[in-house]
Amino acid sequence: MSYAYEVLQQVIARNPGEPEYHQAVKEVLESLEPLLNVRRDYQKAGILERIVEPERQIIFRVPWVDDQGRVQVNRGFRVEFNSAIGPYKGGLRFHPSVYLGIIKFLGFEQIFKNSLTGTPIGGGKGGSDFDPKGRSDGEVMRFCQSFMTELYRHIGPNTDVPAGDIGVGAREIGYMFGQYKRIKNVFEGVLTGKGLTYGGSLVRKEATGYGLVYLVNEMLTDNNRSLEGSTVVISGSGNVAIYAAEKAVQLGAKVVTMSDSNGYIYDADGINLDTVKLIKEVNRGRISEYINSHPKAEYFPGCNGIWSIPCDIALPCATQNELDSEGARLLIKNGCMAVGEGANMPTTSEAIEILKTGNVLFAPAKAANAGGVATSALEMSQNSIRLSWSFEEVDMKLKEIMVSIYKNISDTAKEYGCDGDLIAGANIAGFIKVADAMLAQGIV
Ligand code: NDP
Repeated sequence: MSYAYEVLQQVIARNPGEPEYHQAVKEVLESLEPLLNVRRDYQKAGILERIVEPERQIIFRVPWVDDQGRVQVNRGFRVEFNSAIGPYKGGLRFHPSVYLGIIKFLGFEQIFKNSLTGTPIGGGKGGSDFDPKGRSDGEVMRFCQSFMTELYRHIGPNTDVPAGDIGVGAREIGYMFGQYKRIKNVFEGVLTGKGLTYGGSLVRKEATGYGLVYLVNEMLTDNNRSLEGSTVVISGSGNVAIYAAEKAVQLGAKVVTMSDSNGYIYDADGINLDTVKLIKEVNRGRISEYINSHPKAEYFPGCNGIWSIPCDIALPCATQNELDSEGARLLIKNGCMAVGEGANMPTTSEAIEILKTGNVLFAPAKAANAGGVATSALEMSQNSIRLSWSFEEVDMKLKEIMVSIYKNISDTAKEYGCDGDLIAGANIAGFIKVADAMLAQGIV
């Protein structure tokens, strides 16, 4: 039995009822085999046993009062996974599906993603089973204030710096920042994704989506293909999806779909992003409303059908395990040449195998959506030096980071005998830096 396999079995036994966490660990550990065969010192130092166990897991009660005066109670989480290379860093997710297993899968992935950015940040993740959808601004504010009233004691600019994720955008970050400042009486960069008037960075809003397209573009160019003139299917219509679509269009592609948890729209003429931004960012509405102003477009209820739309490139940007084996088969049948993961773990393990067999180029989330956290690290730098960089400056740094991540993971895949397997390249490259830092710091 290999070292990686043994540790995976321990993880499954020790963390029952957390399938997403098992899936994330399995994907990483399996692809580390070629590295572990040559780096026996990792086993001696128990690196795998330590890296799969979060340094700290915080679970707390979040009581708040709704607009009807009823007391509501949600559950809050922060998993501080690994601080070997810097303060814990990773988003907060507010979604009814959140439980410890989701936060652990996201926190575990975050360790390697953050390492790949080349910036000094460790891995963490948090959130709550609170659903902001349909809640008034007042309810969201009271929830965020209650959430931060517990979280503040665990975080800090040199300890743990949360950001946004599903259900947590500029509004929620603003309310949480206000409460942190009120309790601690310190104005400091404790959260990223802040508004531009109080320490936020230009390009942070666009960063994950733009970064995804920069990396996919590198992958295509490296394989003598091009984004220009291609047809792109994007799922989701949140922060990542909207800005992935914007950059894809800027680089000459046509985006024909977007979705939310109720269904998807298909516009053969190319999605009008101004309309999507108005519906989702301004009115907090549903994607189905798109057809009201674009009658030639079609709306389909349900999410899975989106992968049946013929495309050259698919960018899943909504949520975990949204692209399954049936979706992967449909993409291949319709001639799709590349998949880039904007969401975290959006492709099931079976679908990844099918895409590999079909020779579809595949950019894994750890690398492909790292632009968001990389730009959060740039926000931390700007907060530290009390300066703001221009849009062009931050965008240029983001692009450089994505190009260098692509080179790093592609070179690493070659070095370990799995040329073209960017999943292995990303996992190995991200892991080595963290594992070597852990070795240097002793058994902690
Ligand atoms: P948003 O909340 O802005 O948007 C999420 C989108 O996905 C919405 O359209 C939402 O639809 C849809 N969605 C969420 N859950 C489901 C579900 N269970 N089934 C179908 N659709 C769903 O989140 P983000 O755009 O920020 O995040 C999207 C993904 O990208 C997540 O996996 C996140 O972890 C990842 N990511 C985000 C980063 C960031 O900087 N924001 C950075 C790196 C990764 P609805 O409105 O109906 O809920």
